[in-house]
Amino acid sequence: TESRSKNFIEEIIDADLASGKHSQIVTRFPPEPNGYLHLGHAMSICLNYGLAQEYKGRFHLRFDDTNPIKEEAEYVESIKTDIAWLGADWKEHLYFASDYFEQLFEWACHLIREGKAYVDDSSGEEIRQMRGNLTQPGRESPFRNRSADENLDLFERMRKGEFGDGEKVLRAKIDMASPNLNMRDPVLYRIAHAHHHRTGDDWCIYPMYDFAHGQSDAIEGITHSICTLEFEDHRPLYNWFVENLPVPHKPRQIEFARLNTTYMITSKRKLLQLVKEGHVTGWDDPRMPTLSGIRRRGYTPESLWEFCKRVGVAKRNKLNDLSLLEFCLRQDLEAKAVRRMAVLEPLKVVITNLPEDAKETYSGPNHPGDPSMGEREVVLTREIYIEKNDFMEEPQKKYFRLAPGKEVRLRYACYITCTDVIKDADGNIMEVHAEMDPESRGGSTPDGRKVKGTIHWVSATENVPFEARVYETLFLKEDPGEVEEGQTFLDNLNPNSLAVSTAFGEPALRGAAVGEKFQFERKGYYCVDLDSRPDALVINQSVGLRDSWGK
Ligand code: ATP
Ligand code: MG
Ligand code: MG
Repeated sequence: TESRSKNFIEEIIDADLASGKHSQIVTRFPPEPNGYLHLGHAMSICLNYGLAQEYKGRFHLRFDDTNPIKEEAEYVESIKTDIAWLGADWKEHLYFASDYFEQLFEWACHLIREGKAYVDDSSGEEIRQMRGNLTQPGRESPFRNRSADENLDLFERMRKGEFGDGEKVLRAKIDMASPNLNMRDPVLYRIAHAHHHRTGDDWCIYPMYDFAHGQSDAIEGITHSICTLEFEDHRPLYNWFVENLPVPHKPRQIEFARLNTTYMITSKRKLLQLVKEGHVTGWDDPRMPTLSGIRRRGYTPESLWEFCKRVGVAKRNKLNDLSLLEFCLRQDLEAKAVRRMAVLEPLKVVITNLPEDAKETYSGPNHPGDPSMGEREVVLTREIYIEKNDFMEEPQKKYFRLAPGKEVRLRYACYITCTDVIKDADGNIMEVHAEMDPESRGGSTPDGRKVKGTIHWVSATENVPFEARVYETLFLKEDPGEVEEGQTFLDNLNPNSLAVSTAFGEPALRGAAVGEKFQFERKGYYCVDLDSRPDALVINQSVGLRDSWGK
């Protein structure tokens, strides 16, 4: 009973099912294992897996591993981990394009026999030149009219390893005058004497993306092959192969807009550069837009699904707001995350009318809206920490937090009134003295007087110290790929993207496990980082609260 209107891909699927073209749909996610998955890939996974779920179809995970030079087994493993984390279940449907190398080779021979492919001895540069550009037709290669027998012989010898890298390629014979450059005799195979992470040294010729992709779809019975808009111009070629080869099934390519998000780079090549050059600590640096980075930062699969759903399936590229992604995380964690108090920039407050050894325990709900999440104990002692910015010596108007002579409520505990400000010789505030109203224990007084400010706090003696990592965006520009002349995207890096400090959390934080998530009251959502050790917690800020003011 969903009321949203269907997107254009669902409309295509509805029509295909209604006409009987398909009885069941099959989608796939086809990553190239040449890097870690990023937020853009999450969009493609949610879309393809989501459609398979919605229509009770099948979802395939297929590694598009046709380029041994850039691909590694490490990437295959990380990609599986990330997809499983998102909750997309490929079940037994795990495939590798490299498993189709023999079939693809046979189909290439088929094209040669039909006079639709030829071996070209031209160099890559010569082929580029001959291909021409949009304003002029291409020129035919001098090797274009080799006989089928000669081509078959040469292609077999390419496979056997008789030629060096770049000496020959196999090209489709289509149309050198086509207005679509992809149709001007595209390269189908190239020679690469490179070790493949799965096929080892079995092959020294490898199919190009265009020749491998659609045929892999055809082999697997993919009904709707969904890809991003930059492949729109490749669709005629995709269809040409499907029409000109004895494929068992005819898939259909559908293009949609890439997911682009402000302040993020989503290009594996550039992300690899950030890692290799040490601008970040690794693919899973919490500032990275990779799924491993986002996960480590504290994002949940549910928040990514919600984000992808809200962005929706579009036919035109646009830049989506990072704030929408953050909104989706807050919304998810607001319901799930337990509340804790932590002070990130501590200022000591001495409650002078409490004895040195005072240890008062109060309890606070783990979640204000969900009693089933239980309660935790907080401990009040004579010395506590509050946030530096929760105290002002000369308060502005409407400042309802602590100030000389002013009273505030310590969350869950009692009221205190500031009595004194202690400074060093240079006038820096060292600590603040206050007195508690003993009648206010529990958070209210018999006279029912109001205090306008409630602040969070942590005992200065009963606490869990931790390393807080607070992030800004990795890039300063909304579109980091947009650069001034003579600059690169690296010039848009934010030098202040990470701030580390020693912070203090309430005792209930003790023993928190890697990945555990909290709302630090009045601060934001936080997640225990991978670098954490039992005796040395490291906690990331996942996202701030929209209104950290006054709450
Ligand atoms: P990159 O440019 O980062 O290398 P890619 O498209 O080359 O990305 P692939 O591994 O080939 O990476 O992508 C697997 C699938 O994910 C493809 O179907 C691709 O269209 C899709 N995809 C990649 N980036 C995005 C994005 N930003 N938004 C939506 N889908 C994407
Ligand atoms: Mg790709
Ligand atoms: Mg790529």
